[in-house]
Amino acid sequence: MTTDDPTDDSRRTEIATNLRAVHERIAAACEAAGRSPDEITLTVVTKFFPVSDVEHLVSLGVTDVGENRHQEAEPKYATLTARAGVTLHFIGQLQSNKASAVARYVDVVESVDRAKLVRALASTTDELDRHLDVLVQISLDGETSRGGVLPDAARNLADRIALTDHLRLRGVMAVAPLGADPRPAFATLRGIADGIRADHPEASWISAGMSADLEEAVSEGATHLRVGSAILGSRLSHR
Ligand SMILES: *Cc1c(COP(=O)(O)O)cnc(C)c1O
Repeated sequence: MTTDDPTDDSRRTEIATNLRAVHERIAAACEAAGRSPDEITLTVVTKFFPVSDVEHLVSLGVTDVGENRHQEAEPKYATLTARAGVTLHFIGQLQSNKASAVARYVDVVESVDRAKLVRALASTTDELDRHLDVLVQISLDGETSRGGVLPDAARNLADRIALTDHLRLRGVMAVAPLGADPRPAFATLRGIADGIRADHPEASWISAGMSADLEEAVSEGATHLRVGSAILGSRLSHR
């Protein structure tokens, strides 16, 4: 889309309005929790939306964006004008055979949940002499089908990451369990994060909270929020 396309202007306005509303929700949640909004990084999840939307987000001051599929993210972000100024977070389940490709162009992998993936990411970043920030994804619903390591195994995985040369262990990530109150789950996540941080002080990030539950995440100590639909709209209408 070009800037003289009137639909492009209205899309930018729509995104700007939604972004402002999300920032207001974050500010209110921080106030209620006695926290500062400066402690929170907003990652806008751009999956299913075109790179023109990412260009709008960047022009509106967004610095962090998230994608969950390599096949979509790689070509999309290769065409982003301001790629160097944007921190790209990979937030989806990652197959080991795609890890090498992903490690070349993302800045953060939030979904590290098994030793095999640590080995694959470490091997590529060693080869490229490239540092990558990583989070341990924790499963909070007692099973691992949606990704994530069970809480009992989280510290061991964190220790493995910390032993690599080019992966920087930055903290933990989780998705709230489906159909349950997110708050106790996020409280559990915070406890796991505290345990890991006791051994690895640099692992201070807690990535939790999406469009529907960002307030609960802020109240339970999240430092990173991953928000898609509240800013870009319903994904189904844009597929
Ligand atoms: C899609 C996605 C989000 C964003 O979800 P919304 O409900 O659209 O805000 C956050 N985290 C992960 C892991 C996702 O896949």
